[in-house]
Amino acid sequence: MLAELLDLVLPATCALCHRPGGPLCPSCRDAAGECLHPSPRQAMPSPPPPGMPSCWVSAEASGALRAVVTAYKDEGRRDLDRTLAGWLAPALRAAVGADVAAREALRGRGLLVVPVPGSPRARRRRGDVPLMPLVTRSVEGLAGRATVADVLRPTRVTRDQSTLDAAARAANLAGAMVVRERQEGVVRGNVCVVVDDLVTTGATLAEAARALREAGASRVLAAAIGATRRQIEARATLPGPLP
Ligand SMILES: [Zn+2]
Repeated sequence: MLAELLDLVLPATCALCHRPGGPLCPSCRDAAGECLHPSPRQAMPSPPPPGMPSCWVSAEASGALRAVVTAYKDEGRRDLDRTLAGWLAPALRAAVGADVAAREALRGRGLLVVPVPGSPRARRRRGDVPLMPLVTRSVEGLAGRATVADVLRPTRVTRDQSTLDAAARAANLAGAMVVRERQEGVVRGNVCVVVDDLVTTGATLAEAARALREAGASRVLAAAIGATRRQIEARATLPGPLP
């Protein structure tokens, strides 16, 4: 309500350079667009954490693109939701398109799209779960039966991942997620696609996949907006069966 009133009296500004023209001015939109791959790619952290699911991303997580994600999540620029969903959706489609079981699930018993759970601390600080609207919008772009399934919850407080290296991130997150009580039946026997915003070491996606497999998921894939450069695997650039 307040945001709507402010929109009436204040011109929208660019989330990155704060010049008039929101949510992104043309030059900042171009700068972020340069981080996008021509088509989604498979991302594989190096070294991959144990249990890392096959993961597809639309972009390199750097520069302006990373700044857009930060503005959306931590600077209150929720008007970037369409922009970010527009970057996430192709990665989600590619993850599903590259996997036989996921394609069959979409045509048959249904596919579960599972956002990674934010930490309780982040949830309190932000007041909401910023990933959720992006996942909801992206799922609308899947042709078939796909459901957003917010079935994961953190089991304990974890340290801020941003200061940790790959080994420390994996240790920090081991056993840190679980499928919510009474939601195991939703997961059991189903294909799940875990979704996060940006992939760094893959520890978050690997832990989410572990929790889903433990609850009986028949297969777990992953999709994200972007991954850091060293984790992009150059070989696969088209959504199709992998060697
Ligand atoms: Zn700008």
